[in-house]
Amino acid sequence: MTARILDGNKIRDEIKAELAEQINDLKRSGITPGLAAVLVGENPASQIYVRSKVKTCETLGIYSEKIELPTQTTTEQLLALIDRFNLREEIDGILVQLPLPSQIDTKRVLMAVDPAKDVDGFHPINVGHLVSGRPGLVPCTPAGIIEILVRSQIPIKGARAVIVGRSDIVGKPVAILLMHNHATITVCHSRTRDLPAVAREGDILIAAMGKAAYITGDFIKPGATVIDVGQNLLKTAEELRRVFHDPTEPLKQLEAKGSVLVGDVQPEDMKEKSGAYTPVPGGVGPLTIAMLMVNTVQAARLRRGMRAHNTS
Ligand code: NDP
Repeated sequence: MTARILDGNKIRDEIKAELAEQINDLKRSGITPGLAAVLVGENPASQIYVRSKVKTCETLGIYSEKIELPTQTTTEQLLALIDRFNLREEIDGILVQLPLPSQIDTKRVLMAVDPAKDVDGFHPINVGHLVSGRPGLVPCTPAGIIEILVRSQIPIKGARAVIVGRSDIVGKPVAILLMHNHATITVCHSRTRDLPAVAREGDILIAAMGKAAYITGDFIKPGATVIDVGQNLLKTAEELRRVFHDPTEPLKQLEAKGSVLVGDVQPEDMKEKSGAYTPVPGGVGPLTIAMLMVNTVQAARLRRGMRAHNTS
């Protein structure tokens, strides 16, 4: 059996095309959605993410502002900036790129974002909306995972979904979304006993643990749908030889680019054992920014008392 590749880039493009129409409609009513992206410090990965978020805003016609603050910024300074954005009418979404430098109280900062502008969906008010199934702002990566499953016609209703990882950003919210979509869910973590046996029960297996290629063939039920959320950068030939059965291509990539992006699932096993899977790169990753844009447009609508656009 050949596993089907769930192409995140294609689904992202579909979502962006639909969103562009919604944005044009809003603009005709005199509304331009606006996003403020705040970056503190000089983390290179964060710089790339923020640049790419701002660029996506530009291509879609969303107004954006990028604010870069120095590494030594204090919690109070960041809170003051967020307050200003909370008050500005033309800003619908506030994104604070994580991780923040260690001296900053991240929880306090995320709590300070007006829940109506919390486009990452991290504020407890939005977590509450999510749990109780009310319209609100849903964390981007979990929302993207549901879009992949629904748009690829993977049956969720009645399916057994196993999620490996229980973080507030991925594991917990995706479990709740799957439950709302009528899956029977099991959430695993580092204390789960006999993880391979539990994982093998999943018709849908979601790996969100941050451990390169940890999920091997014996964790996968034959024919299951595997969603690999992990993003792990491998930088040595030794790591690649440990992870890949045939490291020839990855080693070439390492030489050309200096690193290789690997998910939490062993890619060759995933291809062989699953029925459908998201590749890394090109699976879940592209959806995260697309869903941030969806949330910004959603925030622009909800803040003005307009009906929420249907989400999966
Ligand atoms: P966290 O580190 O916050 O959480 C990891 C989770 O995995 C924890 O719940 C942890 O368990 C669990 N875990 C770790 N090791 C094991 C193990 N050996 N067995 C079982 N469970 C284990 O990570 P995130 O949720 O933030 O991210 C997960 C992955 O997804 C990362 O690779 C990250 O880069 C990627 N990611 C990708 C995004 C994308 O856009 N594609 C967006 C966000 C994240 P415990 O709670 O017990 O410690």
